Amino acid sequence: MTAVVASGVSKIFNEGERNAVEALVGIDLHVEPGEFVSLIGPSGCGKSTLLRLIANLIEPSAGSIEVFGKPAAQARLDQDYGMAFQQAGLFEWRSVEKNIELPLELKGWDARRRRERAGEMLELVKLPEFARHMPWQLSGGMQQRVAIARALAAHPRLLLMDEPFGALDEMTREHMQAELLQICAATETTVVFVTHSIPEAAYLSDRVVVMSARPGKITDIIDIDLGSGRDEDTREADAFYDSITTIREALRGVEQGAVL
Ligand code: ADP
Ligand code: MG
Repeated sequence: MTAVVASGVSKIFNEGERNAVEALVGIDLHVEPGEFVSLIGPSGCGKSTLLRLIANLIEPSAGSIEVFGKPAAQARLDQDYGMAFQQAGLFEWRSVEKNIELPLELKGWDARRRRERAGEMLELVKLPEFARHMPWQLSGGMQQRVAIARALAAHPRLLLMDEPFGALDEMTREHMQAELLQICAATETTVVFVTHSIPEAAYLSDRVVVMSARPGKITDIIDIDLGSGRDEDTREADAFYDSITTIREALRGVEQGAVL
C-alpha cells in the first residue's frame, strides 16, 4: 500500500477573494512505505502547504490526498502522523518525558505504558538521562531531539517534518540528520521532509522533489543513490557531490535568482 498519494492537488488560499493566493497546482506525488522524500524549492513555493495538506491541517481546493489508502482526514483521526517543525514546540511546564507522553495521553494509554514508551524514545534519541529535565534546561539540538521523540512516540507510520533542523548550527544539524536516518531505519517510518538545504536533502533522501514557485508545482523528482547505510563518509563521497549538483541544477532551472 502506498504511504502517500496526492492526485491533482491544488490549493488556493482565500479562494474567490481579491487576496487569493494560488499556492499549489496539479500536484501528483506518490511516496512508498519506508521511503524518505524531501521537498525542496524556493521560498514560498508551497512546501509547507503541501506538508500541511498531507497532514490534513488544511484541505485541498482540488484533487485528493490518501495516506495508507485512506483519506487524509481519516489518517489524521487514526493518528497515522507524527509531525515536527523548525521550532521544537515543547510545552515548557512539562518535563521532557511528560512532553513525549503527550500524544500517548491523547491516545488513552495508561501511565505505566506511557512512561515505558517515553523511556524507549529517549534511548532512541540518546537522551535517557534527561527524562526529568525541563525543556529550558536543554540545548536547541536536544530540544529538537525531544520533539522528534514525541513525534515518533505513538509509532506513527508517517513522519512529516518542516525544516526541523533549520534553527540548528551546522555540526548539530549533521548529527541530527544521521540520527534521524538511524531512527527511521529502526522504526521503519516513512518521512516527508521539507528543507531548503541542498546537502541536507541529498544526505537524507531516497528521492528529492523539486518545486517551483507561483504557483507551486513539482518540476523534478530526483532519485538519490547513495546506498542504504549512510554515514559521515557519505558526506565526502563523489556520489553525494553528484547528487548535490543534480539538485542544484534542477533548482536553477526552476527559477533564476530565486531566494532559497
Ligand atoms: P514554503 O513553505 O515553500 O516557503 P508556503 O507553503 O508557506 O511556502 O506558502 C506558499 C504560498 O502560499 C506563499 O505565497 C504563501 O504566502 C501562501 N500562503 C501560505 N499559507 C497561507 C495562508 N494561510 N493564507 C494565505 N496565503 C498563504
Ligand atoms: Mg515553509
